[in-house]
Amino acid sequence: MMKKSIIPFISQLPLAEQNEWVKRLNIHIINADVVLAAKVSDNDKHDCKVAIVANPDPETLLDYSALVWIQSLWAGVERLVSEIEIPTFEIVRLIDPCLADTMADAVVAWSYYLHRDMPIYAAQQQKQIWQQHKVILTSECTIGILGLGELGQASAAKLALNGFNIIGWSRKQKSLTNIECFSGKEGFNRVLSQSDILIILLPLTNDTLYLFKKESFERMKFGGKIINFGRGKIIDNSALFNALDTGKISHAVLDVFEQEPLNTESRLWHHPKITILPHISALTNQDSACLIVNNNIEQYLITGEIPPSINVKKGY
Ligand code: NAP
Repeated sequence: MMKKSIIPFISQLPLAEQNEWVKRLNIHIINADVVLAAKVSDNDKHDCKVAIVANPDPETLLDYSALVWIQSLWAGVERLVSEIEIPTFEIVRLIDPCLADTMADAVVAWSYYLHRDMPIYAAQQQKQIWQQHKVILTSECTIGILGLGELGQASAAKLALNGFNIIGWSRKQKSLTNIECFSGKEGFNRVLSQSDILIILLPLTNDTLYLFKKESFERMKFGGKIINFGRGKIIDNSALFNALDTGKISHAVLDVFEQEPLNTESRLWHHPKITILPHISALTNQDSACLIVNNNIEQYLITGEIPPSINVKKGY
């Protein structure tokens, strides 16, 4: 019988979580054995053509000299792209409709949180204040989505179903049903100035690093709100504090941070106009991720076809 190929599972997750992933992946992957990286012999390391990764230390990937591609279990692979200077293998991120749907639900939930003034009512309750604020119709609320990829488009579609007026921004100009689409610098400024709520669903790249600095906040509507579900370093925190303290923006929901977990010393925790989430807007669902990874790997083992991968030059 031919020896099955070995697919190392390379991760820094707690060991129990790694074991759970390996167990589940092996149920789905039939033509290869998924093995914890620590259990792969040095000899076998040089034969591995595919690896499955979940938050790996990028340097450890260099031990696998024959790698053709790696499959990430996460949708965001910024750390891999930025820390491996010139990868000799393709990087495939998780593209999962279930994940996009989970993100779209989070986008709708936290948009309503801001749209229906929940932070204001929570603060009023602390002080026993009985005060009603005007209800604005969803059709009167413009939500700008920065990033119209897998997650941005799913989110835009779900928000549009709730009656919000949706505008969006991407690198290449798009044409999408029910969404007014913009691109380029001019388009960025238009989205900023028209949005009541801005949602960041961009990857972190050289172009998006600290995209939200003083000038960007200045272009926003007075009292506008922002949700960052992309990556922490897209927002310059000192500019954010300034925009919140001057009232230029009225609230920020942050799910992603420069350093995670967020340091207990961070000022972000205590700001009354900031809601902190521990990177939960779209967690990978094991069942659906395993099916997708299985499909990608079986397809490769049978046809040699590598799934669509990251464009390292673009950074996403
Ligand atoms: P994606 O499919 O690659 O889409 C990225 C979008 O951003 C595309 O529309 C792209 O434009 C746009 N974009 C990239 N660089 C740009 C630039 N310089 N200017 C304008 N638009 C730009 O990625 P995705 O799957 O939607 O995921 C987006 C990000 O969400 C991930 O990179 C990750 O950081 C984050 N994420 C967060 C969580 C969480 O739990 N918080 C979970 C998963 C992912 P084009 O369409 O023109 O290429």
